[in-house]
Amino acid sequence: MSKKLTRAEWEAKAAALSIRTQAFIDGAYVDAASGKTFGCVSPMDGKCRAQIAECEAEDINRAVSASRRAFEAGVWSETSPVHRKKTLQKFALLLEKHAEELALLESIDMGKPVADALAIDVAASVRCLTWTAEAIDKVYGEIAPTPQHELGLITREPLGVVGAIVPWNFPLLMASWKFAPALAMGNSVILKPSEKSPLSAIRIAELAIEAGIPPGVFNVLPGFGKGAGEPLALHMDVDGLVFTGSTGVGKHLLQCAGQSNMKRAYMECGGKSPNVVFADAPDLQAAAEAAAIGIFFNQGEVCTAASRLLVERSIKDDFVKMVVEAGKQLYPKHPFEPGAPMGAIVDEGQMQRVLSYIEKGKAEGARLALGGERVMTESGGYYVAPTVFDDVAHEMTISKEEIFGPVLSVIAFDDEQEAIRIANDTDFGLAAGVWTSNLSRGHRVAKKLRAGSVWVNYWDGGDMTAPFGGFKQSGNGRDKSLHAFEKYTELKATWINLKS
Ligand code: NAD
Repeated sequence: MSKKLTRAEWEAKAAALSIRTQAFIDGAYVDAASGKTFGCVSPMDGKCRAQIAECEAEDINRAVSASRRAFEAGVWSETSPVHRKKTLQKFALLLEKHAEELALLESIDMGKPVADALAIDVAASVRCLTWTAEAIDKVYGEIAPTPQHELGLITREPLGVVGAIVPWNFPLLMASWKFAPALAMGNSVILKPSEKSPLSAIRIAELAIEAGIPPGVFNVLPGFGKGAGEPLALHMDVDGLVFTGSTGVGKHLLQCAGQSNMKRAYMECGGKSPNVVFADAPDLQAAAEAAAIGIFFNQGEVCTAASRLLVERSIKDDFVKMVVEAGKQLYPKHPFEPGAPMGAIVDEGQMQRVLSYIEKGKAEGARLALGGERVMTESGGYYVAPTVFDDVAHEMTISKEEIFGPVLSVIAFDDEQEAIRIANDTDFGLAAGVWTSNLSRGHRVAKKLRAGSVWVNYWDGGDMTAPFGGFKQSGNGRDKSLHAFEKYTELKATWINLKS
């Protein structure tokens, strides 16, 4: 990867950017049929950078027709896994080649530090695409345990047309987790990025064509949830609907799937993840720093944010002091500033939402130990200080609801049973952490925690090789790993009469 750039160098690159603003349907950039556009406002300074095509039902219909045509023609769906592998590897290399540009688009669009966008978002998207491509010609079918006179073949077939609706917190990465396995299996994809972060998705559409993915197979339709997402979810000719976003919208999309053609629907939704620290944690300083990064990384706009810190009462006060000290090092800076630990909140609405939760925390009696306010107002952007609430009662709103911002709730517990009870007493079940030197306790607690990912003595570990997703209202799907392919396939049993 390139040398670390200065803020001035990133500013120069940003000024030279030529931002793509149209939808991408059937292999070409096009305006929305209505001609409507919406403003793309950068949260780093509140300035509008571009007008983006606002797709609606008519555009979705066009894209679904193009996707279906391409699928039925077999130009991608019937190619060999090896061909799709090579094409997707090329696509990954093109993302890598344009890494700086894509990182800039992410940073401008949703406010994260550009260095993080480069080192994490784009790099992980490349890894996801590469890993998925490499895996696709290693996925076998099965042969049923039949009697002698017949042969039962269980094969995996692509679903057909897959609609993917994604959020704004890791725009390219969340999209990659969807389109990489869907394309690898031979599906056609219609990607609807968030209205808050459409730029990288629009840009990579032409890279897909350059890589050799045929027109109609990968389409990108920017627009709002109601205007573009809903017609996609309700469409009678969409076979699969994959979503990452809030639990409320996920529930609604399950209804859309049922109300229309019973399309396969997989939801990856919100979280309120507990990070449980026992007094015998192997390194309390490391645990405190991880607790701070776990909630403040990406401005707290992370589905797996370690938003509930459960600490054994005997060490709680000292531990909170350490977390506060770590949090002080993570105040936001301009996203182009080298080493910026946090950037801007995605938009003014989300910033106000975060600030209103902070007010609720104070009103309900939690003790503000750090932050609690908007900062860098002179920039015109939307920045919130890393915020720590101590003495949070488990029943308080800030302990129950997903804030999706840099706000940590600290809750004390007295013993293992109480820690498990509080950790699991939530509608969500996305991730959890346990810190202890007691190996048996680490396993015991990890087993009891109702969460799709559990980390012992660290936070946010893992890679492409293990499935990622939630229990309970954090969702019903799994991204990453070979398990992701299952979302994009139909299992078909073919029986052959060997006596004929
Ligand atoms: P959101 O639910 O508001 O929006 C997500 C997407 O859904 C956007 O593209 C939006 O336009 C679309 N949408 C909104 N309303 C719609 C409707 N009625 N019909 C169809 N589409 C609609 O979520 P967000 O604010 O973009 O993202 C934040 C949420 O995403 C948080 O809850 C976070 O926890 C979750 N998330 C989950 C994961 C995961 O893997 N589980 C990962 C990242 C983010």
